[in-house]
Amino acid sequence: MQETKSKYPEVKNYISGIFTPSDNEVMEVINPKTGDVISSVPLSTNKELDQAVNAAWSAFPGWSAMPIKERVQIFYRYKTLMEKNLRSLAQLVSDENGKTMDEAIAEVEKSIELTEFACSLPQLISGELLEVSRGVECRVEHKPLGVVASIAPFNFPHMVPHWTIPNALALGNCMILKPSEQVPVSSIRIAEMLREAGLPDGVLNIVNGDKQIVEAICDHPGIEAVSFVGSTTVAKIVYKRSTSNLKRCLALGGAKNHIIVLPDAHQDMTASNVAASMSGCAGQRCMAASAMVAVGGVDHIVAKICEESKKIVPGQNLGSVITKAAKERIERYITEAEKAGAKVLVDGRNWKVEGFEGGFYVGPTVIDYVTPDMAIAKEEVFGPVLAIIRAKDLDEAIKIENSSNYGNAASVFTQSGGHARMVMEKASAGMIGVNIGVPVPREPFSFGGWNESKFGVGDITGKSSIEFWTKLKKTSVKWNPEARTNWMS
Ligand code: NAD
Repeated sequence: MQETKSKYPEVKNYISGIFTPSDNEVMEVINPKTGDVISSVPLSTNKELDQAVNAAWSAFPGWSAMPIKERVQIFYRYKTLMEKNLRSLAQLVSDENGKTMDEAIAEVEKSIELTEFACSLPQLISGELLEVSRGVECRVEHKPLGVVASIAPFNFPHMVPHWTIPNALALGNCMILKPSEQVPVSSIRIAEMLREAGLPDGVLNIVNGDKQIVEAICDHPGIEAVSFVGSTTVAKIVYKRSTSNLKRCLALGGAKNHIIVLPDAHQDMTASNVAASMSGCAGQRCMAASAMVAVGGVDHIVAKICEESKKIVPGQNLGSVITKAAKERIERYITEAEKAGAKVLVDGRNWKVEGFEGGFYVGPTVIDYVTPDMAIAKEEVFGPVLAIIRAKDLDEAIKIENSSNYGNAASVFTQSGGHARMVMEKASAGMIGVNIGVPVPREPFSFGGWNESKFGVGDITGKSSIEFWTKLKKTSVKWNPEARTNWMS
């Protein structure tokens, strides 16, 4: 595995185009593949948040007055800069998050695709106009909200900020970004590159910190809307707190995604897809297959999944998990399931990668005969672990999927159109896959789950995000005095 021991400069806040040190204490940023400290991040004060919000409001009149076709030119240039710097951006993601270089490259490529979508927004948001009575026309336009906030998790330091920044900004808003304090360095590069692409100062501001600054964002009277991506526990807090302060809020939470495997599924394709889905990004994806519902006689596919899983080796084609605490939590889930009677077929506990003994690695793990009442079947494990639950038929499998509190993704592997159709209709999840292990809808389709995987109306990306980041202005116009007088006059 290629590894850099590089240390990055201390992370600062970014306010009105200037990297500004915080007055408050700092936290260490750790490379989870090595355990080395690579940077530090400030836990900003509420006063520093005020400065960022003021900077954003100062930038708003000029930015929102710029025609959208002009605004997106900056994102065309930004996209080219990301393409040119793909490897260095990916290296940084890999260093602060622990994922492999290939996964980090795929992450930055997704940021590029999200930016490409924002460049298409002028084509999508042209308003509506109709002559509603003689000589009177009504027009509807999308207007920006003002200053908005985006709060991000640790698992995609580059991509998740791109779920919100390009669309919200292209639509005319100014933003306060609060990156995860565990992976704050990528956001610095995002700010630098957007500035290089021509983004005016104050349009994007970054305020670092943890719980306390998130609460301050939810309470701040100068912030119109809050988008959040993270765990369900925190999503609920942020949603309740922001909306009780009369803000618009969209809060994406955690997940427990089910893959239903039927006996007629293509053996090799299913096995490689399931193994990749559960272990990609070390299982730290909100779209990861975490529970497999094995319907009927699928032992041949389970055997193949184990074979595929053994080809996934920590430190080679599998990255680390984010912290020592995460590694311990994941291993605890495995041990508890085993104690409760589940059978560990592939065991990823107690992994050490030679030369990287300080890193936090968990190997791919496959556990069979998990029952729906076990914690590992119900809770988000967020590690490279597949819990296999046996079901006698498809009805029972769907019941198991439906019983989850979450609802991000659900997939089915089968060669039967009828069975696939049944899962498409009955699964209680926002994103469904048929013979696809990670059913992320690509742009222009929007991303978002159901149930406790998302709070708020609409989705965070794609066309759906237009409604979240804008408000509608409806104007009725009459210039001709001879037009008939009616109730509208
Ligand atoms: P997290 O909820 O711990 O943190 C997310 C953000 O909230 C961070 O910026 C953090 O500083 C802040 N925060 C943490 N605790 C807080 C508190 N008590 N009050 C206020 N703010 C707080 O999530 P994480 O561990 O960084 O990320 C992993 C989680 O994110 C997983 O549950 C994963 O499923 C979820 N996730 C969901 C999606 C999705 O699309 N639904 C996408 C990515 C990640």
